[in-house]
Formats: sequence, C-alpha cells, structure tokens
Amino acid sequence: MIARDEAIAILLRKYALLHALAHDGKANKGAVVGRLMAERSDLRGESKRVSGIASSVVSEINGLDQSQQNYALQQEFPESLRSEIQRKKEQSKKDSEKNVELPALEDARIGGVVTRFPPEPNGFMHIGHTKAAILGSEYAKMYSGKFLMRFDDTNPSAEKKEYYGAFIDDFAWLGITPDAIRNSSDDMERFYEFAEKMIAVGKAYVCSCSQEKMRELRGKGEECEHRSQSVSENLNLWRKMISREVGKSDATFRFHGDMKSLNTTMMDPVLFRIIDDPHPLLGNKYSVWPTYDFAGPVEDSLDGVTHAMRSKEYELRDQLYFEILKSLELREPKMIEFSRLKLQNTTLSKRNLKKFVEEKLVEGWDDPRLPTISALRRRGFLALAIRQFILSMGVSKVESEPTWDLLESFNRKLLDPIAKRYFFVPNPVKLKIANAPKVKVTLKYHPDKNFGERSIDVGDSFFIPGDDADDLRIGSNARLIEAYNVQIAEKNSSIVKAKYIGEERVAEMPKLQWVCEGAAIPMKAKIPGPLLINNQFNPDSLRLVDGVAESAARQIQIGEIVQFVRFGFCRMDSPGIAIRTHS
Ligand SMILES: [Zn+2]
Repeated sequence: MIARDEAIAILLRKYALLHALAHDGKANKGAVVGRLMAERSDLRGESKRVSGIASSVVSEINGLDQSQQNYALQQEFPESLRSEIQRKKEQSKKDSEKNVELPALEDARIGGVVTRFPPEPNGFMHIGHTKAAILGSEYAKMYSGKFLMRFDDTNPSAEKKEYYGAFIDDFAWLGITPDAIRNSSDDMERFYEFAEKMIAVGKAYVCSCSQEKMRELRGKGEECEHRSQSVSENLNLWRKMISREVGKSDATFRFHGDMKSLNTTMMDPVLFRIIDDPHPLLGNKYSVWPTYDFAGPVEDSLDGVTHAMRSKEYELRDQLYFEILKSLELREPKMIEFSRLKLQNTTLSKRNLKKFVEEKLVEGWDDPRLPTISALRRRGFLALAIRQFILSMGVSKVESEPTWDLLESFNRKLLDPIAKRYFFVPNPVKLKIANAPKVKVTLKYHPDKNFGERSIDVGDSFFIPGDDADDLRIGSNARLIEAYNVQIAEKNSSIVKAKYIGEERVAEMPKLQWVCEGAAIPMKAKIPGPLLINNQFNPDSLRLVDGVAESAARQIQIGEIVQFVRFGFCRMDSPGIAIRTHS
C-alpha cells in the first residue's frame, strides 16, 4: 500500500513540476490531479486518497522557487522536460503558421512593397472591405513596405464627409495603421493634365451621345461619330466641359477603346463625367470628375503602388487599367486578385445596407445585425477575431461563402479566457424551495482565471429561465449551479415549486443558472439573428428578451463583454441592456 502511494506521489510530483513550469512556478492542485486521473483511470475510485497526497506534493513544489523547480525537473524527469519543450516548440510553430498564412508576393522585395486600400467614402466600412484592407496591410508588413489608405472620392453625388472619418475610426479599431492617408480628389489637377494627354495620343474623345444611344451602338458593335473628332476638337470640347460651358447630359469623356471587343469594359468606357453635386471636401470647385476606371490606375501609379490588390469582380477591368497606364506612359503596378468576401445570410452590398438603414428596418449603421465594422464592434466581436477570420481564408481566388459560425468560433476562442461569468435569467419564472437550507454560495467570475468571486446568501426564492421551467417535469431533479439539487414538486406557468434534495453533483442532472428573487436586477438582452433569409430581409432578425440578472451584474461596464452562463457572450450596450454576441 505504501509503495503504491509512493508511486502516486512520484507521478503527482512530475505533473506538479510540469504544471509549475507552464504557470510561473505555481502548480494548481486540481489541474495536477486531473492530469493524473486522465492517465490513471484505475485511481478514479480513490480520489480522496489521491487528493490527500496531491495536497502535500503540490504545496512542496510551490514552496520551491522556479530555478529549484526546473532543477528538480531536469534531475528527476529529464524525459518529460524534453518532451514538454518539444511540445511547446511545435505549438508556437503552429501558432505562428496560423498567423501568417499568406503566400509570397510575386516580384516583391523587402522594403520595396507598396500596397493600398482605396475605399469610396459612400457608406460605412463593412466586413467585405476588411479583406482588401487586412491583406494589403499584412503584405506591406511582411515586406517592411508601405501601406496607403486612399479615399476613392471622385463621385460627389454618393460621398459624404462623415464616411471618411468613419473609415478612419474603423481602421484604428481594427488595428490597421496606414503609413499615409490620401484622397484621390487631391489630384484633380493631375487628372485633368492626364486627360489632355489621353486626347493628344488619340486614346480619348469627348462624346455627346445619350446613354441610350451608346447602349444601342455597343449592342451593334458600332462607333459613334464623335470618335473620329480631331485632337483639337476634342481638346476644345474637353475644356468646355471643365469651364462648365456644356451641361452634364451633353458631354462625357470616353476612352478610345474597341466597340467590337469581347470585353464589354473596353467598349469606349466613360473616364470623366460632369457631376453638379458639391464634393464633400472640395465643394463646387470642380464639376468634371474621373471615374474609378481612370482615377484608380493613375493614382496607383502616382502613389508608387507596387502591388495593387482587388477582388476578382474587377477582373474584366484589368485590361482597361493597364491600357490607360500604357497610354499615359505611367509605371504599371502588379495586379493581385482574390475572391470577394461573402458571408451567409447577410448582404455586403452598400446599396442594400443603405436601404435597410434609410427605411429604418434596422436601428442604424451600427445595428448589431449588420456586417458593418461598427455593428460588429457594438455586438462584441474583437478586432483580432475579424483579422484571424480574414487571414484564415488567405488570398485564394476561389469563391467561398463562409458562415457566421466561422467568425464566431474565432471570437469565442478569444473571449472565453477574458470574459467574466455572470448569471442572467431570460424570461424568468419563479422557483420556490420548500425546505431550502440557508447557504452561502460562492461563484467565481471565471472557471479557471483568477478574476475573483462573489458570495451570495441564498434563500428559498429564485428565478430560473422560462424555457428550462417548461422542460422540467414533476418529480424530476435539477441542479441550481454551484448551489444544490432540487426535485420538482408542482408547477404552473408562473411558479415552480420544488424541494431541496442535497448538494452532491450528479453528472446527468440538468443544470440551471438562477438569480435570487430578492437580489435580482432587471436586464434585457438583444439577440441578433440572420439579417436575410432566402435573400429577403428577415423581420424577426432582432429579438429583445426580458430577464433578470444577479446583483453583481451591476458592475458590468458599458462596452464590457461578459458571458451570461448558459446564454452566451454578451456586450453591455446601455444600462440594463446587453447584446448577445453569440453563444
Ligand atoms: Zn458619341
């Protein structure tokens, strides 16, 4: 018997030393016993004896300083130490691989990479934008290069000043730091110079055909009469556009393309058009604005961008991008394309999102159902989870439609170790215990982090979740988590009556979170659901659940993310109202 105890003590000593090594010199008895039991199932019936031995072993190990512990490990269990070091090495390798999954860039050298993210300030940043932004900034980092943020703001009819700031805020929150922030509209004078050059080399003309006529000509593969105007005629008309001598329906500036091209983008696309709306930054200074087709390549070249990244939906426009640069004899960046990010049951179309906001189908741009960055932040997603989610998809060109579950799983892994646990009871039903013992229950704020605890004097009246109350049958047993077990005696829709039947944990007994009646505080939870079902707006996409929380929940700060036990992770949105992030 004594020899057997000694063998157990040696194993416990090994695990205690290993645990101490991984936890700043402090072994945890529960963890040490758990590891022994995992290996030696034959000892499970002797947990009291093992626990007794573990107490003295762990306190002895914790009495040593870390260098003594390491020495003991080397002397007594060199094999275990070696395999522990090996395991850690592999783990850290795995972790770093997980973070950097991006393949090398073609033609890239350290210090010589410039990337950019060109959002149009015509709406709020959403998760679809993050792909280009995160990939661009990650690649710049990978090559010690530069990452620019450039507002593609040359369509004043759609753009607003507030959107510039919102993008910059969302960038900051996402932890993306551009090396410079610029606006395409800063370069209007350059665009005008390049327009004249396009005319001079015969690559552009001013056209006064209507949209309908142009559509018809494209259908037939025919050119309009304006295409054969001389350089000086075109220059003259162009200058009239600039000086506002012609109106917006009378002139557009077109690329001299190919009306018979198989690529419709090349059929004399518009490069400049007259827009009368005031620009959010420049007011009425200009009325002739370049399209993205023109501004994009010119700006990329002027900005020194070496690797221009954009999603595959622009693929057909690549030919135009490079032909414009060739016509202007400007340096050509390398084009990197990746699949557009999609997400199930939601829309990443700015037009749709705007419609939902304007028609007040949602509360605003940060409504927790939306895929905007401000909404994800308000709902309780962490910037790091979004980053990990995006990087997990890499730069593949293959279209995929990841689910919210994947994004949630990254977030859950990050929240689990940092979120405090509280009891929240949705749709509360009263529970009355006939022979309730007077007990003090201590609840830890986290099962294995040292976040402190609170003590609750428990009486005979509780609130339990309505859904659970529905499921309880007369005569069945249930456990009030961390308190005791009860047997259901009778119930109706407003109250459940039960009796106390002991405190021992029984694995298969249903467990309920609870709130003492006398100490309950009101708490509501908003539960965001799928925004779209079958591509239609889901009118039941946001539910508001009434409930109560334990009094300790008063200390949850606005903006804090906690876990409501058996309910899910929640971010406190306003006093008494939490938003459920996910389960
Ligand atoms: Zn024409």
